[in-house]
Amino acid sequence: MTVPYVSEGFTDLFPNAPARVDADAAPLWDCFAPEDAERGEASLRAAVRENRPWHERLRAIGESGVDRWVLTDAVPQREPDGSTIVHGLFTDVTDEVAAEEALRVSASVYASTRDGVVIMAPNGTIIDANPSFEAVVGFSSEALAGRDLRALSAGITPAVVFEDMRTSVERHGFWRGEIVTRSRLGAVATQMLTVSAVYDDAGEVSHLVGVLTSLDNIHDDLVTGLPTRQVLEDRLVQAIEAARRSGQRVALLLLGVDRFRDINETLGHRLGDLVLKEIGERLVSAVRDGGTVARVGGDEFAILVPTEASGSDIEDLVERCRGVLAAPFSPSERSVQANASIGIAVYPDDAATDAALMLAADQALRVAKGEGPASYRFFTSAMQAEARARAALSGDLRTAIADGTLEVLFQPVVSLASGELVKAEALVRWDHPTRGPISPGVFVPLAESLGLVADIGDHVFGHVLDLLEQARDLQPAFAVSLNMSPLELKAAPAVHQRRVSELRRRSIPGSLVIVEITEGVMVELNPAAAATIATYRDADVEFAIDDFGTGYSSMAYLQQLDVDFIKIDQAFVGGLAPDSGDLALCQAMVVMAHSLNLAVIAEGIETAEQAELLRSMACDFGQGYLLDRPLTAEQLLQRLREGARYL
Ligand code: C2E
Ligand code: MG
Ligand code: MG
Repeated sequence: MTVPYVSEGFTDLFPNAPARVDADAAPLWDCFAPEDAERGEASLRAAVRENRPWHERLRAIGESGVDRWVLTDAVPQREPDGSTIVHGLFTDVTDEVAAEEALRVSASVYASTRDGVVIMAPNGTIIDANPSFEAVVGFSSEALAGRDLRALSAGITPAVVFEDMRTSVERHGFWRGEIVTRSRLGAVATQMLTVSAVYDDAGEVSHLVGVLTSLDNIHDDLVTGLPTRQVLEDRLVQAIEAARRSGQRVALLLLGVDRFRDINETLGHRLGDLVLKEIGERLVSAVRDGGTVARVGGDEFAILVPTEASGSDIEDLVERCRGVLAAPFSPSERSVQANASIGIAVYPDDAATDAALMLAADQALRVAKGEGPASYRFFTSAMQAEARARAALSGDLRTAIADGTLEVLFQPVVSLASGELVKAEALVRWDHPTRGPISPGVFVPLAESLGLVADIGDHVFGHVLDLLEQARDLQPAFAVSLNMSPLELKAAPAVHQRRVSELRRRSIPGSLVIVEITEGVMVELNPAAAATIATYRDADVEFAIDDFGTGYSSMAYLQQLDVDFIKIDQAFVGGLAPDSGDLALCQAMVVMAHSLNLAVIAEGIETAEQAELLRSMACDFGQGYLLDRPLTAEQLLQRLREGARYL
């Protein structure tokens, strides 16, 4: 057998192919995995013999041992001289094979999991369901197809739950909550439903996947074998009832494993689960008879103990828990430290009911977590007041966002060389109806914890585009920056794609928009954030590193991320004086940024001396109260109309 002709692409596919195979094609088979070569050669001979097409899927040995899947598609053609020429194509189908494999795996998980899984169209119409789901709701998947999820609930789950589901999935691609299902025979059950959006390549929602877990029948947590939250809550009710009668107390400890996400990422989920299991075992060993240890959340445990006396007993227990967790965990050769923060609340001192006790312990845990790893805190009434205030503020913030009453101001950014107004930074403002102005430093993190940060971002983005549209006639190159928190960067792709589409729809050049991100984003760059950055990048949007110098300040990351500006943090600018350490630092940042082709914006310029020093070190742009305060859009446009000059 000989090979008279191969195309150029052939060598890409078969880097190990011998240079000349026209005389003897046998070495060609060495490009394939041995068993595949054997099968391929046999089927090719058979195809030639029987004069039919040759279709095979073969594994080719690629460079550095990475296999590629190759599909053959060839037809033999008999020549007058009795020989046979085979014309055909080799196609690289590695990606398709991988996708198929993934699909097969998920299909088998889908069929065999004990959780009910339902696949829905973006509007919530059921497309398919797995056997467990069929069993729970008592309908076959054929009977379910085309129905709405709410039909299953037979009017028991309140409509607002489905409404909440719809908006949350739309905004965040995710919802989790409880629904009540009724089977065909009338059995009613509470289920935890998790709905996640699946996105297509264009970033649009292609499907919704719902996973139902029954809350009624699970008594033991699958990972740790400990009682679940449900069981704990039942025992809490009983313990409080008993304590009420006997005049004793009940202590509830909530333990949150510190930075469990990191542990999971370091070890992988399987070993992470083993750590959780061992944490459970160690806690059980720390609790004497009569106590209950339960797993109440992904990385949260609870300990419930009836107790006779006061604080010191409980402190002993806390110390024992901290003690047993102090030793490292070694689920594999690699060992990790797993500390826990602990929040403690006591009946009847801190709360009169089971629900209130849970809430109090939870509030104490939040406070402990905020104080660093392995902290513990007893509930105090101040925590309660704070939690109430926070809840009230959350409600007000939701309203402000929904009503669009957050204001967006624009602070001028000036060219230090010419004094010209060339850019502005959008800064969001909340003027609370009764409490007055609240700093974004307070309400942006609050919005993040409420899952509302993308809504604020949408609002700001809209105002930025409005301003750019109006500024265009006055100064075509005028650019506006906006701040994007790390969490917002990780928001659903559709959020960002919608903004980019809006930019295009209004024919505003993307290069007039600058997104300010912090240094932390670079360090923790995860795939979702990287994809978001790419989405804006594709639309020519520029990037700036905000508060530069306060974080990691890594040059390597700067290059990797391909940003356009750094913004020197106001802490350095504020300390500028001749011969000061901050002067040397700012100079170093400017030189280094320029060497990487990045422009530099100095923030927080308050004095003429600072401005002069920055100008003399060739810092490109400046921003600060000396130059101008944050302005309304109308005030800013007025400055542009006047051709305002600074410095
Ligand atoms: P940032 O991005 O570093 O914004 C600069 C902050 O410095 C602004 O505070 C600005 O008003 C203030 N500032 C400007 N010039 C001077 C000066 O000369 N001296 C001093 N001492 N301060 C000056 P603001 O508006 O309170 O914003 C605080 C932070 O909140 C911002 O820091 C930014 O990280 C965040 N933020 C503001 N708006 C948004 C937003 O729309 N989305 C997000 N995610 N974050 C925002
Ligand atoms: Mg900023
Ligand atoms: Mg800043």
